[in-house]
Amino acid sequence: MTVNVYGHGNPVRLFVAGLHGDEWRDTSDILYNINPPEHGTLITIPVVNSGKYVSTLDENYYKHQGMTIIYTIVKYQPSIYVELHSYSGDNFTNLTDNNRINRIGIPAYSILDNNVLLGSVAPYIRRNYFSKEALCLSFEIKKSDEKSRSFAEKIINTVKECKSRDEFIIFLRKRYPKQAEKAIENYKKFYGL
Ligand SMILES: [Zn+2]
Repeated sequence: MTVNVYGHGNPVRLFVAGLHGDEWRDTSDILYNINPPEHGTLITIPVVNSGKYVSTLDENYYKHQGMTIIYTIVKYQPSIYVELHSYSGDNFTNLTDNNRINRIGIPAYSILDNNVLLGSVAPYIRRNYFSKEALCLSFEIKKSDEKSRSFAEKIINTVKECKSRDEFIIFLRKRYPKQAEKAIENYKKFYGL
């Protein structure tokens, strides 16, 4: 797998796609086509693993299939980390159900536009590899949905220019006030911050 480094200095951002199974089909192009940020550093891993599907909620994922992610985090210490995933339509309710926290212990995703979902990353990587102040996001793009993919591309380019977690929160509050409140509430409940 290829690790690309664009720009230099702080903030350091790491964006990853194609984390498991065939998700690279709907996510990797966004990172192949991304331009360097105006300020700071952007590191991308367009295809982390295209082998068998292992969920990122399974701790083994980051110890094996997703090992490159951990190496890259340890090496570059990013303060902004973004995972690009894709989901099939059948899974929409499962991902966005408010009861998800009670069912599997992970907060539900927020719905942005064009079936793009926003959530945090797996607790294992969030808690062990990032400071409390870091911004860790996970976007879910609907599979084989061009609108969903191109909308995600726009959002990713906005996140790419954010210099801090606060800057991203200001953007989210302005554009998606309801989703922002829910995301922040989930985050505080979950991480006690
Ligand atoms: Zn995924």
